[in-house]
Amino acid sequence: MIYLFLTHDPPGLNHERNYQRKFSQRRNELVEGIREKGIGDEQVLMAIQAVPRHLFMDTALERKAYEDTALPISCGQTISQPFTVAAQTELLEVKKGSKILEIGTGSGYQAAILCHMGAEVYSVERHEFLYQNAKKLLSTLGYRATLKLGDGTVGWSAYAPYDGIVVTAGAPVVPEDLIGQLKIGGMLVVPVGSQKSQQMIRVIRESEESFREEKLQNFKFVPLIGEKGWG
Ligand code: SAH
Repeated sequence: MIYLFLTHDPPGLNHERNYQRKFSQRRNELVEGIREKGIGDEQVLMAIQAVPRHLFMDTALERKAYEDTALPISCGQTISQPFTVAAQTELLEVKKGSKILEIGTGSGYQAAILCHMGAEVYSVERHEFLYQNAKKLLSTLGYRATLKLGDGTVGWSAYAPYDGIVVTAGAPVVPEDLIGQLKIGGMLVVPVGSQKSQQMIRVIRESEESFREEKLQNFKFVPLIGEKGWG
C-alpha cells in the first residue's frame, strides 16, 4: 500500500501536469504564429513562450489565452493581442537592465514580458481595480515591476529618464511629456491616430534637442484617456 503511494502521483497532480503541458504546447504554437507574422527577436519570442498569459485574464477565457487575439479584462479594457505585445516589445529593443516605462498596465501581461526579458519595469494604470489586480498577480508570479495608479499621459517623472517608453493605449497625438522623459538614444513606442485605428510610431531621442520619428503598421487599441490623451 505504502509502495503504491510512493510510486504514483495523486490523480489531481497528474491532471495539473497535463493541464500545464497543454498550455505550454499552445504557447509554442502561438510563438510560431507570431514568428510567421514577422517577429524575429528571439528574446521577445522566448518571453512569450515563458509567460503564462492565461493567468492574466478571467478563467472563463483561459481556453482562448493562446489564440492571437485581444481579450476583454475588467473596466471595459483589453489585454492586447500577443502579436501586438511582441511588435511593441521588439520596437523597444529591450536589453537586460533597460529601464522601461509602460503606460497602461491593464492585466500586467506586457509588464511581465518586459520583466522576463530582464528590464527594470515601471508601469502606470488609471483604473484602480486593474492596478490592484496587476500588482497582486505580478508579485505572485515573481515579476518585480514598480506600478503606479494615475494618469500616464504625463509619464512618471520620478524615475525618468528611461531607455524605452511603451504606450499600450491609442493616443490622439504623440504625448510630449513622454518624449521629454527619454534618455538620449531612448525610444518611445506609441500608437497614434483616431479612436478607431492607430499607426504605431517610434520616436528616437537622438540628442537633447533632436528626435527622429518612424511610422509603422496600423493597429487598434483602447483609447488613452487623460490630460494629454483623449480628454
Ligand atoms: N498593457 C496592457 C494592455 C491594457 S489595455 C496589458 O498587457 O494587458 C490599455 C490600458 O491602458 C487599459 O488598462 C487602460 O485603463 C489604460 N489607460 C488608458 N489611458 C491611460 C492613462 N492615461 N494612464 C494610465 N493608463 C491608461
